[in-house]
Amino acid sequence: MKTLFRLLALVAVCSSLAIAATTTAPKKPAAAPAAPAVDTTKFKTGGCCEKNEKDGKHCTHPCCVKAAKDGKVCEKCNPPAKEAPAKDAPAKDAPAAPATK
Ligand SMILES: [Zn+2]
Ligand SMILES: [Zn+2]
Repeated sequence: MKTLFRLLALVAVCSSLAIAATTTAPKKPAAAPAAPAVDTTKFKTGGCCEKNEKDGKHCTHPCCVKAAKDGKVCEKCNPPAKEAPAKDAPAKDAPAAPATK
């Protein structure tokens, strides 16, 4: 009698484990695209590439596509951010060079 009970318990455990295994089977997420990762932070704000990225697409400009293939960001459309573009006007606060000699 005891052995029968243990057998039943074993079966119950096994079946519950099997159910748990099938119900909690991890679902693999959709495979990520194999394209090289592009540094999207380099996209120019409001630029062609950034707009497409927001829509979950890729910029279709030939120059951008070519750059993306290399895992880069098109520098033509997304020029590196320049801090305060230098103007030709000379700095007024610059100390005049001493003309002593
Ligand atoms: Zn672009
Ligand atoms: Zn481009």
